[in-house]
Amino acid sequence: MNYDIVIVGASTAGSYYARRMAERGFSVLVIDRSARETISPDYDIFHMGKAEMERFGLPEVKKGDGIFAFMFEDQNMYSAFGNHPKPSCSPVIGMHKHDYIVYMNDWAIEAGAEIVYKASFAGLLFDENGRINGIEYEKDGEKVAVNCRLVCDCSGIPAVVRTSLPDNYGVEKFELTPDDMFYVILRYIDFKEKRSDWLHSDFWLMYKSWIAPSGMTDALIGIGSCSGFEQAEKMYELFTKNVKIPAHTVKWTERGRTPYHRAPYSFVADGFIAMGDAACLTKPNCGEGCTASLVLEDIAVDAAAAAMANGAYPTREALWCINKKYNDTQGKEFASLMALLTAIIRHTPKANEFLFKHDVIFSRKILGTMGEGGLELSINDYLKTLIFVLIGLITGNIKLWELKSVINAIVNSGMMTSLYERFPETPDGFDEWVKEAEAAWKKVGKMAEWSLV
Ligand SMILES: Cc1cc2nc3c(=O)[nH]c(=O)nc-3n(C[C@H](O)[C@H](O)[C@H](O)COP(=O)(O)OP(=O)(O)OC[C@H]3O[C@@H](n4cnc5c(N)ncnc54)[C@H](O)[C@@H]3O)c2cc1C
Repeated sequence: MNYDIVIVGASTAGSYYARRMAERGFSVLVIDRSARETISPDYDIFHMGKAEMERFGLPEVKKGDGIFAFMFEDQNMYSAFGNHPKPSCSPVIGMHKHDYIVYMNDWAIEAGAEIVYKASFAGLLFDENGRINGIEYEKDGEKVAVNCRLVCDCSGIPAVVRTSLPDNYGVEKFELTPDDMFYVILRYIDFKEKRSDWLHSDFWLMYKSWIAPSGMTDALIGIGSCSGFEQAEKMYELFTKNVKIPAHTVKWTERGRTPYHRAPYSFVADGFIAMGDAACLTKPNCGEGCTASLVLEDIAVDAAAAAMANGAYPTREALWCINKKYNDTQGKEFASLMALLTAIIRHTPKANEFLFKHDVIFSRKILGTMGEGGLELSINDYLKTLIFVLIGLITGNIKLWELKSVINAIVNSGMMTSLYERFPETPDGFDEWVKEAEAAWKKVGKMAEWSLV
């Protein structure tokens, strides 16, 4: 069998890339280890911003189609004790994930892509020069070999292709440990006192916890924590101790994991691109990955189409512009935000309450632009922060070690922006850049190294 492109994983990342490359006239095969009827079974309800769905031209959903669950606009971010809301407003669409993935699969097929279900990735194939030229997959106990020019890893957290690359092939092979993931627990609840009006989302940054519509019950309470589900449950206990949640009964729970790790330094190698959760492309402020991956994928559509024009083999050099263009945009924003959050979460509920109250650090301005890029702070913003941090220190609301975390957060975040802005235009200079990046990420550390519980 021969295709231009083979994609491993037919969820959001794989379906999107399959559709876009098929539209460009390439022959595309997608394999997924799941059956069509059971694809993406981990959890039911997920969200995407309406504006993002439109930006990427994703297939639309509407009331009554069995996929659409709800839409809301109002979002509030609260302090550690549930006060001082910071409102924001942008339409968010809630959908049933399995049904939307099937819909996206059909959207890819409509453009000419082929999908083989119940087919597990079994290994890479190489040409006489050691360059990737296909894959093997296993289906119904049989091994099937497929030749192609480009293999895309869209297999999610297991990153089955990326982790099976030969050593020194050009893309890191790291596997995610429990400290590199958010363990998310969703509780679908009904309020004791019926409240059918819960059509907004409340978020408590301190505990990474939220209450949002669920489409089926009155609401859902979510919590995410590094290191494991046990840790997430401990954090949930603290959250419900410090924040008054309306009396409710839990109807059922769902659990899942999402990456919380920097992206690989390079996404591309000869005949290879990593995308989606397989490349840790999740928003550092909330762990959402569906549209975050599409930013890279859109860049990779143009770049791979050019690299593969007239039957050419997509070399690492030809695909390199994907790294550069991505790091010039979302790449540097995510790196900077991850560095900021990793240090800034290191404070107590008391300090959090103080900062929320006075609208500094956790201000409407900063929280409103989190994950969206484009934050510009004025001299007045810095001055106000400095004054209130000093007042906090004098009144005992902020401890010196908490002030150090805030300073570290700001310094590390700036360091990452500058580092990613200097990402090399070509593979020359990459090794030097990686050395610098390794030292910078070591300084940032991991979110999991500090916890309230
Ligand atoms: C509880 C929870 C709630 C979330 N809510 C949101 C949300 O509201 N909005 C949002 O944007 N993100 C959300 N996320 C994150 C989001 O689910 C992921 O970022 C997104 O699904 C990643 O898509 P993907 O296509 O890269 O990988 P996945 O969705 O993980 O898909 C990978 C695919 O690869 C296939 N596969 C794996 N191994 C193999 C193999 N060996 N051979 C063949 N196929 C294989 C799998 O069967 C699967 O279909 C949430 C995550 C969790 C855990």
